[in-house]
Amino acid sequence: MIFPSAPARPSLLAAPLLGLLVGCGGGEAADRPNVVLISIDTLRPDHLGCYGYGRPTSPNIDAIAAQGGLFEQHISSAPWTLPAHAAMFTSVPDSVHGVVDAVKFRLSEDFETLPESFQSAGYSTAGFFAGPYLHPAFGLGQGFDRYVDCVQTVPDGEVDADNEWSMRDPVLRASHHGVTNDKVYGEWQRFFSGASREDEPFFAFVHLWDVHFDFTPPPPYDTLFDPDYDGPFTGRDFFYDPAINAAIPRRDQEHIVALYDGEIAWTDEIVGRIRHDLGAAGLLEDTILVITADHGTELFDHGGKGHRTTLYDEQIHIPLIVHYPGVVGPARFGGQTRMIDLGPTLRDLAGLPAVATTMGESLAPYLRGNLAGGPDLPAVSELMSVGRNLRSLRTTGGKFVVNHDNGGSAWFDLAQDPGELQPLALSAEGAGPGLKRLYDEAAEEIISGIERAPAGAAAADVPASIQRSLAANGYAGGGDE
Ligand SMILES: [Zn+2]
Repeated sequence: MIFPSAPARPSLLAAPLLGLLVGCGGGEAADRPNVVLISIDTLRPDHLGCYGYGRPTSPNIDAIAAQGGLFEQHISSAPWTLPAHAAMFTSVPDSVHGVVDAVKFRLSEDFETLPESFQSAGYSTAGFFAGPYLHPAFGLGQGFDRYVDCVQTVPDGEVDADNEWSMRDPVLRASHHGVTNDKVYGEWQRFFSGASREDEPFFAFVHLWDVHFDFTPPPPYDTLFDPDYDGPFTGRDFFYDPAINAAIPRRDQEHIVALYDGEIAWTDEIVGRIRHDLGAAGLLEDTILVITADHGTELFDHGGKGHRTTLYDEQIHIPLIVHYPGVVGPARFGGQTRMIDLGPTLRDLAGLPAVATTMGESLAPYLRGNLAGGPDLPAVSELMSVGRNLRSLRTTGGKFVVNHDNGGSAWFDLAQDPGELQPLALSAEGAGPGLKRLYDEAAEEIISGIERAPAGAAAADVPASIQRSLAANGYAGGGDE
């Protein structure tokens, strides 16, 4: 049937013999390669050329992908920024790292995060972020020698000298309006041109935020893909403006999508600059360059918009491209991989020891061996915020979703219904029972992961004055990040 019955699916936990089975191919690795981890917020892979999009949104990313390893079905732990990045750094599902809702939780110091591993190994570590949920108050700054806040905190045209925290409602909205790629790139350049990297390898986390709404790319990207539009809509306030919705005319929806694509093209330019910097310094072959995202976003696919709302693929399918010339690729991997696999993969590629608490698998054996099939791992995604309590189990063939508030469940046959438009009951013929069994196994592994985790999430370190401000604004998590 549609549900793939062939190879026995590895458990959610690591398969320790994998490296022995597939061996090592590829070329010589640098002793201690640099790592540049680019997280492009809200980037849907189906809007990138290298993932088959028809519009030329991503010439630089495509060129990098053509020389590296590309994972076609890479799945996030969550459809929004905070838990997804916490999973990126801890390599455990959201229920295990515990940072599942904004304002309430911060990542426990007891996890060994990905940047902490590189810091402990003697790397110089730096992070540059431009989205409010990357703020160190949520615990995501752990392990960075420097962690630079590039969030736009002042509403357009206003001056505010009291922005000690980036979550106040007007500040939060301001963070969506601005163009921040230039600032992030400037901070990257400042770091990269510094003298310290001459003496030690570096780990750089570059968080590019402009693809996230609002969809207001700078010229020429604002008109690049829809120069003739003369309708009333702009990408500004995409999420907050109720006038922008799935009921607007198709032509206007297309314009919104063209603006989203413009943001991708603008961000692709930044990625190209970073690649150029590495090449000009002669470091491309000594650097693992990763391009990924935290989550996607809905562009009216299911009658809605934005993210942090569902677990449909447009919100949880993300790109993963690993560029490491001489060691990796070129190769494309069709099997499914997960956000939680990135950390083990990077540690493995860089020769760092594995971290016992992680629940992902290293993809490095596949990358080194150019094994085009790649792994095929069941992926858990969760949304436990903004009044939703959803968990899904996805395979390459299907997705099983449970609503824990009412006990309801449904599954989707991704082979026949890739758009997830026809929810199926368990009783329906096909892969439903098999998916449910995988779901139940994953749920058990999550419970055991929680028991083994070094600690649950700590209370968020949000200043009391800001908590009052958030409450006064009726901010309950927003559904916007
Ligand atoms: Zn995000």
